[in-house]
Amino acid sequence: MCESTESIWVLAEHADGVLQPVTYEVLALADKVARVTGGRISVIVIGHPARPMAERLAEGTGLDVIGVDAEAASSYLAETFRHLMKAAALLHPPRFLFLPHTTTGWDLAPGLAVDLGASSLSAVCGFQGGPDLVFQRRILNGRMMQDVRPAKGRPVVVTVVPGTENPFASEAKKPGSLRIIELQTPQTRTRPLRYVEPPPSSVRLQEAEVIVAVGRGLGGVDHLGPIHELAGLFRRGAVGASRPLCDMGLLPLGCQVGMTGQTVSPKLYIACGISGAVQHTMGMKASGLIVAVNTDRNALFCREAHYCVVADLNEFVPVLIDKILRFRGGRPE
Ligand code: FAD
Repeated sequence: MCESTESIWVLAEHADGVLQPVTYEVLALADKVARVTGGRISVIVIGHPARPMAERLAEGTGLDVIGVDAEAASSYLAETFRHLMKAAALLHPPRFLFLPHTTTGWDLAPGLAVDLGASSLSAVCGFQGGPDLVFQRRILNGRMMQDVRPAKGRPVVVTVVPGTENPFASEAKKPGSLRIIELQTPQTRTRPLRYVEPPPSSVRLQEAEVIVAVGRGLGGVDHLGPIHELAGLFRRGAVGASRPLCDMGLLPLGCQVGMTGQTVSPKLYIACGISGAVQHTMGMKASGLIVAVNTDRNALFCREAHYCVVADLNEFVPVLIDKILRFRGGRPE
């Protein structure tokens, strides 16, 4: 142990009361820190109502859970969440606060660091441990890793890149403690108007088990049908894309994988007609099995992938669909 017992907070992410799997990945990294520092982890969930989520977390993790409840927290607003988090932290200031490096986490973390007088480490993708508590980040478009040591003696706010860790698996035999803090709805200068549902094709890329991603090798929007069809063969399948496809408007922005898109870690990632630029691959490196389909056997993706199929994607994908359907006797998964 290199530091005294100090509290480690993990902010749970949820969408309309549904806890997001990335919460458990962040917990896994926080757990590594706790094992080195001897710190005690508390999971914080902000919502309205907060109790059902807090109960699920206490049962699923065996960790202490604090539910922060305020009427205005029924939908996410940075101003509100920041205010509530600050109020909760004043009761028992954490030494570490971990958040997922998602759009919500990015939005909240810098402001929270200011509120807590904390150092801010963003987009962390590894923890080395050691007496100095060294964290790792990717820099220079993912070409190099940077070791970062937070300043001693002050709190640290850390955002963790999704896909960095395997989800936290609790060894606890009983639920953790539960505390609900009810707070007044703060005055804010902004207010949410409405929640816009993402288009179905971009839904929950981060939860997909199979991603069929497509790049500029597609050739045109007319060829998208088989890509959707292939992804649709899997119960938890989704279509992903390289940035140019989204920039061209062929697929929604929510489908973009990579540095300026989403970070994903499906069991199977099929990259069709994508060259393998580091800005793309840094968003899917943690995938279980990577298959590249490319006409160019020297494409960078063929070096990243476990398997490289050297073929025209517009010929290969329909053949693959046919093979899968025959194998299953025409049945869906
Ligand atoms: P290309 O590089 O043009 O590759 C197309 C590939 O398709 C080639 O390998 C070609 O051999 C193959 N091909 C051609 N025809 C066929 C065919 N018929 N069948 C099979 N294969 C075929 N990109 C992202 O994806 N995500 C990001 O988040 C991202 N962020 C970025 C951030 C910054 C700051 C910058 C500068 C760039 C970013 N990019 C990002 C862009 C990135 O650098 C690449 O330009 C982009 O990923 C290339 O997309 P691509 O592979 O689809 O296209």
